[in-house]
Amino acid sequence: MKSTMQANQLGLALLLRHACRVNGRSRIVSVTADGLRVEQTFAELAQRAGRLAHALEERGFPAGTVVGTLAGASREHLEAYLGVPASGRILHTINVRLHADQQAYIAEHANDEVVILDSQNLEGFASFAHRLPKLRLVVTVGSRAASVAPQVPCETIDYEMLLAEGAPRIDWPDIDENEAAIICFTGGTTGLPKGVAYSHRSIWLQAMSICTANSVGLSSNDCLLPAVPLYHVNGWGLPFAALMAGCDLILPGASMHPSALIALIEAESPTIAAGVPTIWSDVLSEMRARGLSRLGRLKSVSCGGAQVPHRLIDDYAALGIGMVQAWGMTETSSMSAIAQTPAWVSSADDRHRCASAQGRVVCGLEVRVSDLDGATLPTDGVAVGEIQIRGPWVTQSYLDVEDQNHLQDGWLRTGDLGTVDSDGFIRLTDRLKDAIKSGGEWIPSLALESAIRSHPSVLDVAVIAVPDERWQERPAAIVVLKPDETASAPALRAHLLGKVAKWWIPEHWAFTDAIPRTSVGKIDKKRIREIAGASIPWTLTANQEGASTSAAPSMR
Ligand code: AMP
Repeated sequence: MKSTMQANQLGLALLLRHACRVNGRSRIVSVTADGLRVEQTFAELAQRAGRLAHALEERGFPAGTVVGTLAGASREHLEAYLGVPASGRILHTINVRLHADQQAYIAEHANDEVVILDSQNLEGFASFAHRLPKLRLVVTVGSRAASVAPQVPCETIDYEMLLAEGAPRIDWPDIDENEAAIICFTGGTTGLPKGVAYSHRSIWLQAMSICTANSVGLSSNDCLLPAVPLYHVNGWGLPFAALMAGCDLILPGASMHPSALIALIEAESPTIAAGVPTIWSDVLSEMRARGLSRLGRLKSVSCGGAQVPHRLIDDYAALGIGMVQAWGMTETSSMSAIAQTPAWVSSADDRHRCASAQGRVVCGLEVRVSDLDGATLPTDGVAVGEIQIRGPWVTQSYLDVEDQNHLQDGWLRTGDLGTVDSDGFIRLTDRLKDAIKSGGEWIPSLALESAIRSHPSVLDVAVIAVPDERWQERPAAIVVLKPDETASAPALRAHLLGKVAKWWIPEHWAFTDAIPRTSVGKIDKKRIREIAGASIPWTLTANQEGASTSAAPSMR
């Protein structure tokens, strides 16, 4: 028997209608690309998003047009977040911290026709804009555009002037909930970045899950500060959840600097915040340096994207702020598990164990543990295997990628190794992936290796992650030089300038005579990690290495 229920479509049009008709008075405070404070209501946001959608329509960009963004966490970016997909176009957020080559690759593969960018990103964008065959319009936000605009091979227009061309649309019609709404590329851990296209339905469902009390728990009594770039997995879905809940939203703009965040917290009094551990650890250091013992009205911080050190959780608890660890990935629409402590936990030890777990999946998602041959392992908190996940906001495939290696019987292989216990707590132990997660952002080891390898003195190189107190992980390079070559670490670092993003460049270098390899000739990173040990400084020695070396390597 069919149900009798209405089959209305979930999605961003419905979210915008609710945001302006029900939550119209809730506020968004944002820092503009020029560093100014701007406040607007949800109703005003919906109107400006309407103008944007209308102006794009008037200029002949039909439904399905892909609109890229290279922007900070600003109101203009949020307007594009809503106005572009809610009108049937597709938003594509480009990570502003990537090297221009990667940004070009991503923008080209997403078929960006329009790009909206903060004016300070225009110069970088102009260096690769000619590689985008479909590009027809560049929209600049902020006042620093004029000098470079001519270098872009298409029309450029100021964002406010574009908005002035459109009428404020208020009747957002429904869109098929399974259509793509936003494209986000992965960090490219195993090679090139891969595109994930979130649907209207997946964004809606994930936002609802964030609003529930077992997750972040947002309501119209809250004020949220997501210290999360909007290009990172839809800002973890938090802007959508805030609009759904009628929760005031503070957008920090382009800077996540600790002093800027503390100033925002003091001035705007958010009750809930989110972000990667590095940001919150920097905020803590800044507070200590300034002798601060309070952070306004802040009562909780959802922290994830990388392992949250338990000391950080304890330090925030001492300030009266509950820091809750969350786990997720681009492919799972971000926050998928969250480490809230259930009421049945009574002892301090168990409380500690829960808080230091990656969390329990929110209702709607399921996880299992699998060995590398595909057998499902018990969820007993002991058996270690790959964490696999499925659910309506987990990706089924990647854009333009044929193979299905990322799936096993319909479950997404996360590449994270760990356990799941009988209460559903996930604890990660390691990663199958070789990328480095520094301050919440990926540094793909393969790309870094190939840049180092391009130095004429380098014969071979492996890059691994090493623990770092501030950034969680930093890259370390193990280099084999060609015979009679003497290139030093500073020379190799200088070689990387301009070839990769500055923050990718390793501080840690070791030199050896051979890189350990597996039986099929692949670099054996597991073995290298074992040799490198858990802490810096480290060295490789001929004996430990188990490879044919004639001399012990040294740090230079
Ligand atoms: P991304 O797709 O950039 O969001 O990266 C997702 C990956 O970040 C996951 O597969 C994990 O390897 C890592 N990650 C995310 N959250 C956590 C966490 N709380 N603890 C440890 N690793 C995490």
